[in-house]
Amino acid sequence: MKEFADIVGAANVLTGEEDMAPHLRDWTGQWQGSARAVLLPGNTEEVAAVVKAADALDVPIIVQSGNTSVSGGSVPDEAGDGIVLSLKRMTRIRAIDPAARTATVDAGLVIEMLQDAVAEHGLDYPLMFGARGSAMIGGALATNAGGSNVLRYGNARDLCLGIEAVLPSGEIVHGLTGLRKDNTGYDLKNLLIGSEGTLGIITGAVLKLVPTPRVRSTAFLALPQVEGALDILNRLQDVSGGLVEAFEYMPGPMVEAIREHDPSLRAPLERTAECGILVELASTRPADAEEDETGEVALQRIMLSEIEALMEEGQIEDGFFATSEQQRRDLWRLREAVLESIVARGPFRVLDAALPLSGVPDFLRRAGDVAEAAGLQPLVVGHLGDGNIHYSLSARDGGSWDEGRADAATGELLDILADMKGSYSAEHGIGRVKTGTLAKRKDPAQLEAMRTIRQALDPGGRLGRGVLLS
Ligand SMILES: Cc1cc2nc3c(=O)[nH]c(=O)nc-3n(C[C@H](O)[C@H](O)[C@H](O)COP(=O)(O)OP(=O)(O)OC[C@H]3O[C@@H](n4cnc5c(N)ncnc54)[C@H](O)[C@@H]3O)c2cc1C
Repeated sequence: MKEFADIVGAANVLTGEEDMAPHLRDWTGQWQGSARAVLLPGNTEEVAAVVKAADALDVPIIVQSGNTSVSGGSVPDEAGDGIVLSLKRMTRIRAIDPAARTATVDAGLVIEMLQDAVAEHGLDYPLMFGARGSAMIGGALATNAGGSNVLRYGNARDLCLGIEAVLPSGEIVHGLTGLRKDNTGYDLKNLLIGSEGTLGIITGAVLKLVPTPRVRSTAFLALPQVEGALDILNRLQDVSGGLVEAFEYMPGPMVEAIREHDPSLRAPLERTAECGILVELASTRPADAEEDETGEVALQRIMLSEIEALMEEGQIEDGFFATSEQQRRDLWRLREAVLESIVARGPFRVLDAALPLSGVPDFLRRAGDVAEAAGLQPLVVGHLGDGNIHYSLSARDGGSWDEGRADAATGELLDILADMKGSYSAEHGIGRVKTGTLAKRKDPAQLEAMRTIRQALDPGGRLGRGVLLS
């Protein structure tokens, strides 16, 4: 370890069991690895030097940012011969350009810290998901993270203009440009985004920012069935001029499971909605924030009047409108407690499915039949506006968990997805969990091209061993 200590400083080489422990276990608790050391470089040059030293010593590297991955890619395997390279000391905001609406940051910056910092300029980095208080920019880019606002602003890839990275050779890619257009050959930035720590180590990025909305309107709606959801989304988009920021599917059993896990969270509606939707509109326009003589805000009026019309048509059964920021936050707390409450129930399988938007109801029906036949409890949540459904299977209350049965049911769900031309990795990445699925189900020509690229950039296979491509 002396070679590494010479680069990052002895204090930044963790080898003690207790110091390393949080870096060796993943957030779900399903993946436990081991390593010779955890290294904490302080800047890009140190990262490059570590990579070169690791190359010379033939030491594999797992890159880690916030370690909130739910696919097992952020922790090493059990061999114990490699190192974890954690970016948690690289947290600088290098520059904020309010006029260009960009921020240049270190990859170890926690997403929420960036959001807090740019809020002072009336701006936002609109990548929203439950783990944003721990997940870092590098991890978000490496997994091409999504979340609840993709519908409006796109995913991590869409929000990135430039990247700085260290390649497996130790060479630094200097791509921190804020250019909106740059057609100078192969797009290395987009190759590194979503590469899950297998093609390079992202050390910095130039990110797009958006103006902070002046006003939001948030509601929880009860629909008689999911079939009507897309029509409701489209109508809300039409009447608001495309202001829907989130459209989240939260069916009754999921809301009940969340409240069972954390009874302090309030149910938004008196009667559990079979098909619940958390919808949020947001606007930067002053006119949308204006209040009328009754104190009603224009944006809320737009949403409310459309929802009233939909209720009269029988498309919506009930609704709760957040009338204060606290009520809005409570709704989001409920939404963001989903994964935690699933993990708390014990062993589970989760399918991170992407479907053609109009195929969601059919998928839910077919998947429900699979869960029923397997005697498993489906817990479902989704970014419905993107056709992204997180379909998890757990043991039924009081029921037993059988790995074989869960795997067989997951296989059937994958078959349904294939039949519907969906994806089994919408936003969580392949990690370690889905390497077998990828090897079996990815189009052979694409898989071969991916292997060729990895082999070309990292012939020793030292970066992200066992992740993405096994
Ligand atoms: C409660 C909760 C809710 C979540 N909700 C969502 C959601 O709605 N949408 C969503 O997309 N994800 C979600 N996730 C998953 C997770 O938060 C994201 O995948 C996130 O982007 C991971 O970021 P991280 O910093 O924790 O990366 P890590 O977990 O540390 O790493 C993830 C992967 O990226 C690689 N990596 C990390 N940093 C770098 C780097 N600098 N350069 C190259 N490779 C790197 C790692 O090797 C690993 O393979 C959720 C997770 C939790 C726990």
